[in-house]
Amino acid sequence: MHVFSHSATRRAIGAQAVALILIAIMAAPQLVAAVTPRFPTPHSSAFTHDQQIQIGQQGEAEVRKQMPVLPDDDPLTQYVRYLGEKLVPYVPDSPNPRYPYSFHVVNLKEVNAFSLPGGPVYVNVGTIQAADNEAQLAGVIGHEMGHTYMQHAAAQATKEGYAEVGLGILGAILGGGVAGALGRTAISLGANAYFLKYSRQDESEADHVGALLMYEAGYNPQALADFFRKLEQQGGSQGPQFLSDHPDPGNRAQAIAAIIRQLPARQYTNGNTAEFESVHDIAMGRRPVSQQQAGQRRQGDDQGTGKVQPVSAGDVMPNGGWRTLNHSAFTLQYPANWQIVSGNETSDVTIAPRAGLTQNAIAYGAIIREFEPESDSPDAAMHELESDIRQSNPDLRIIGHDEPITINGVQGREVDMTGTSPIDDANGQPLRERNWLVMLPWQPGRQIYMVFVAPERDFDHLRPAFEQMVRSFQLRQD
Ligand SMILES: [Zn+2]
Repeated sequence: MHVFSHSATRRAIGAQAVALILIAIMAAPQLVAAVTPRFPTPHSSAFTHDQQIQIGQQGEAEVRKQMPVLPDDDPLTQYVRYLGEKLVPYVPDSPNPRYPYSFHVVNLKEVNAFSLPGGPVYVNVGTIQAADNEAQLAGVIGHEMGHTYMQHAAAQATKEGYAEVGLGILGAILGGGVAGALGRTAISLGANAYFLKYSRQDESEADHVGALLMYEAGYNPQALADFFRKLEQQGGSQGPQFLSDHPDPGNRAQAIAAIIRQLPARQYTNGNTAEFESVHDIAMGRRPVSQQQAGQRRQGDDQGTGKVQPVSAGDVMPNGGWRTLNHSAFTLQYPANWQIVSGNETSDVTIAPRAGLTQNAIAYGAIIREFEPESDSPDAAMHELESDIRQSNPDLRIIGHDEPITINGVQGREVDMTGTSPIDDANGQPLRERNWLVMLPWQPGRQIYMVFVAPERDFDHLRPAFEQMVRSFQLRQD
């Protein structure tokens, strides 16, 4: 959708904003009593062991295309692999055979890590920079291996109905580089869990597995909890993403202590080795890019042409977290991994994932504007608005007729539209775009409207997030 302006006079819609990060609710961890390390039982799923390995391999290729993965011979990668391989022998090989774990480092500065089904584990350079010692890093790796061991992603994909689509299609989708449902699944399994979001139960299970692997390898399992605690305390620019991908199950440290208490006491190390120090120095000397920069690099040459390069689902799909926009005219929740890309708390705003827009076009996101119609009747006002929007987007078509909608007690109008996306398909043809327009009366003679934008093929995946935004929309009563 091209960003448009109205012929009607507009005033900025007024005041102050504080973005609130939603605070996770604590949940009680689950403990298993045992004398020798007893691992939790992996979840069952419709994907076989071999299929999960295959998904992991395809996902690995896709991650390499979409993220700045360091080469295997990079000293940071070698070190992470060395730590991971210390843990691997302790992964039980029953009830399922052990997955072929592999270890990679991504040149991103955000503190994050993720794993794919079937074995690939990824740690960002920012995570190595943030670790105080080898045990903390081993804890992050062990936790990610825990997700793979427990088959969390595959189990959840099963629950969400992706298994029926079949693996042949997965291959086609991933191979074509198109972010179709399963392609997204493989990537979002860890990278940006939108479809698949780890639950707090998943988190406590991954901690459980990670802590046992650490115990067996001789690392102090509390280092795992220490690292998460450190991220929480840091908060700010680096903590939240890892913590929103891996929500706090509550009392990590106590839960881990309770697991370890069941086991024979042993000597631990935090692994403050000369080797860790030298690898940490190498990491500190690196200049990893932000996810946003990595996304922009991918968009590369096409910046400024008004075209949005094909984006990966992970870059645009809501991550399940929410922020609140406290606008002077309204409050609204929006996906935590999206941004206010234009405007502010007192003006029109555009909320979108960075990767979903160029200077003058928006492929994914929401536009919120004020509109002052000539007419007083809501029906006529809606038609004015529709024609106004179509002036900037001539190929836009209204689907059906506009309908009444009630949002938090306010009666408005809504309509679906279809047009041309600024994103091209693999053959260079523009994708079809779907738009959802919602208009609400605000003050006498003034309306506020929202347009939700996505390529047609992705609209249904974004619809729940758009609906949540609409449901959360509350006009201020001044
Ligand atoms: Zn986790």
